[in-house]
Amino acid sequence: MRRTAALIAGGGPAGAAAAILLARGGAMPVVIERNREPQDMVCGGFLGGDAISLLRRLGVDPASLGARPIRRARLIGGKRMVEAELPFEAAGLSRRTLDAALLDQAEAQGAMIERGLTIRRIDRTTRCLHLSDETAISGDALFLATGKHDTRGIARPVPPESDPALGLRIRLDPTPALHAALDDIIELHLFRDGYAGLLRQEDGSVNLCLSVAQSRLKAANGQPARLIEDLAREAPRLADRFGAATAGSAWSSVARVPYGWRATRGEPGLFRLGDQSAVIASLAGDGIAIALASATRAAHCFLQGGGDAAISFQPDFAAQARRPVSLANLLMHWGGTPWIAGPLLGLFARAPGLIRQAAAMTRIGAG
Ligand SMILES: Cc1cc2nc3c(=O)[nH]c(=O)nc-3n(C[C@H](O)[C@H](O)[C@H](O)COP(=O)(O)OP(=O)(O)OC[C@H]3O[C@@H](n4cnc5c(N)ncnc54)[C@H](O)[C@@H]3O)c2cc1C
Repeated sequence: MRRTAALIAGGGPAGAAAAILLARGGAMPVVIERNREPQDMVCGGFLGGDAISLLRRLGVDPASLGARPIRRARLIGGKRMVEAELPFEAAGLSRRTLDAALLDQAEAQGAMIERGLTIRRIDRTTRCLHLSDETAISGDALFLATGKHDTRGIARPVPPESDPALGLRIRLDPTPALHAALDDIIELHLFRDGYAGLLRQEDGSVNLCLSVAQSRLKAANGQPARLIEDLAREAPRLADRFGAATAGSAWSSVARVPYGWRATRGEPGLFRLGDQSAVIASLAGDGIAIALASATRAAHCFLQGGGDAAISFQPDFAAQARRPVSLANLLMHWGGTPWIAGPLLGLFARAPGLIRQAAAMTRIGAG
């Protein structure tokens, strides 16, 4: 069986960021990633100011990748529409481009990226990954960065929910009118038990992402396009947006997203990163920043104190994530509860400064 000092499970933003910093620190990390090529994940593609700062520190500049600047947020619920300037710089970038750039940078810094290998099972006590090619690899320290997906042997202890959230995503090719309507803006459409977010990406396409209670998709026969048709009365502007574009990809989905979950207990040699460390409600658009911030902090702890540093890293990061994660959860719950969302948008219309404040308070920060 192979052995390495720093073993990283998953090559999304968290895993790749850890690889860059560990390689810079001389730890010779190995990353195991199941995709041969980076893909467009279920993600809104929104980068807030904290994510952008953290990326620049890692040597990845979103602007040079063609990220579209975002200056305003537009919230739409029923017939109400409110807009506010964001209190930080922000951008829209596809995950395919971002993840590819981060992994390239990790490789350039000396990390070894093993692509096309799926981790089938993890032995927690020996920190050993059992892989799809029937080999195994273990690490003195394991950086668990498999994101939205849990792995057998080390799954997050998330309590089951009766109607869990699921994420949906499609790339749209917009009409010129829709393209212009989404210039420098992130648009969020609120409806019962969910929301949809739209933004422009580097290639001019529009990323449409939904987070919705599973029961709502089930009621639409499991078809996302039908769900949007069903939403036409509740969210007429969302249906209009969808009608003003053609599908540029198939729908992709992720089930059972455990919003609000945080890993609060540390154990020696195991660093949980990204969605394995804290899952912020996606409406806030700060999950990528959490991935980068947790990886940055974990790499620093490991390079200073070795695998035992994981014992304090995990509760310390959980404490850092508590406020943005709790507030984002509350806002997403309110946004998906029509009798609260209507008056809330009314309040935001009278005091747009509150939108800026909410946006600022749901950031993990760049440290
Ligand atoms: C609907 C929705 C919208 C969102 N919108 C935004 C947004 O606009 N902005 C934002 O900042 N955040 C957003 N998020 C959150 C964001 O997508 C995540 O927080 C972020 O992707 C976490 O990064 P990660 O590296 O931890 O995990 P991931 O991005 O999930 O990456 C995990 C990596 O591990 C690999 N992997 C998984 N399992 C295995 C295995 N068994 N073997 C080998 N490799 C494996 C995967 O292929 C992947 O490359 C959204 C989330 C949802 C659900």
